[in-house]
Amino acid sequence: MIRLTLKPGREESVLRHHPWLFSGAVRAAEGDGSDGHAEVLDAKGLSLARGSYSPRSQIVSRLWTFGEEAPGPVLFRERFLAARRLREAALPEETTGYRAINSEGDLCPGVLLDLYGEVAVLELLTEGTQVWGPDLEAAALEVFSPPRLVTRMTGTERDRGDTVRAPAVSPDEGLSRAPFTENGLRFFADLSGGQKTGFYLDQRENRSRLRALARGRAVLNLFSYSGAFSVAGLAGGASRAVDVDASEAALGLAREHRRENEFAAGDEDFVRADVFEDLRRRVQSRESWDIVICDPPAFAKKKADLARAARGYKDINRLAMSLVAPGGWLLTCSCSGLVSADLFQKIVFSASLDAGLPFALVARQGAGADHPVSLDCPEGEYLKGLWLWRR
Ligand code: SAH
Repeated sequence: MIRLTLKPGREESVLRHHPWLFSGAVRAAEGDGSDGHAEVLDAKGLSLARGSYSPRSQIVSRLWTFGEEAPGPVLFRERFLAARRLREAALPEETTGYRAINSEGDLCPGVLLDLYGEVAVLELLTEGTQVWGPDLEAAALEVFSPPRLVTRMTGTERDRGDTVRAPAVSPDEGLSRAPFTENGLRFFADLSGGQKTGFYLDQRENRSRLRALARGRAVLNLFSYSGAFSVAGLAGGASRAVDVDASEAALGLAREHRRENEFAAGDEDFVRADVFEDLRRRVQSRESWDIVICDPPAFAKKKADLARAARGYKDINRLAMSLVAPGGWLLTCSCSGLVSADLFQKIVFSASLDAGLPFALVARQGAGADHPVSLDCPEGEYLKGLWLWRR
């Protein structure tokens, strides 16, 4: 265990139970952190908190407890059980794919667990939690009893600030996809890709809103990934749905999702393109859609990207807005944690001014109950979705 002593006056966020300890707050480090454990002391030597240790990250420790209790098998089991109770209380029926452990939001910073039917994917997001891997795996198996558990180690890449590419399983492990249901619809998580743990579980609530609105309407699904929004729209009676994504593999999965749910689809329903270019073409040919879904990847991954990200969000929204028919809908999303809900709404508003089109904000919808956010750590609320109605 390593003991991290804070600079005078830097204990405030720890006293408020914020789980992130930045390296700049640390005056002295003493001991060996190779077991992944850190103890945090104030400048006078009083012990304040314990957590996992990430020597290479700006967030040098993710704090799990604010007292004497040390993270370990007993605590992991307790926290996982609490997380399970929330899912049991709040998840919709016929849903076997969901996030079982949501890092800070379940007081398990650095740990994600996604369940896809019979397969659980444990993702260890920091070097410290990677070291605790065997105990975390044991807790996941005990509390959630998945027939199969795979572990995706992305902590080292993330702590170094590298782009995360590691798939959950390497292709030769013979487990490339995991079937599951969401509100009775059938999907596969792509475990051998590199996107999330294989599926965007965080959009379940928005997919179900789309399903409720879609009857008789044509849906344009931008940044579609595996086309889950389109499947939800068609389940709600959409007349047609078109997926646009840059990834051929994602579109391949999108085709399979249509087939699996028995919705007819033609080649023209899957468009491999850069969304910015595709949108410009559609705007030029004056296309009009009843519902446009715009769910891009995070444009801002670090603070230095913010200005460029804001321009990207504005451009994409201005273009998407021009395609929405009067009386139609735009669901526009941002999953950049660095772009606050307030900033995102302002960017979208300014896009509507530029487009010269009136939209009303009808609902804000982020992730569902399986992505809880701790009040101690509001940074966990990364997904913002705005449902806009074209007047
Ligand atoms: N809406 C999806 C998740 C979107 S993730 C769902 O609910 O499942 C973002 C997707 O955008 C990825 O599939 C990625 O391949 C795609 N992408 C990223 N940049 C792109 C671009 N410039 N043009 C087209 N697709 C892009």
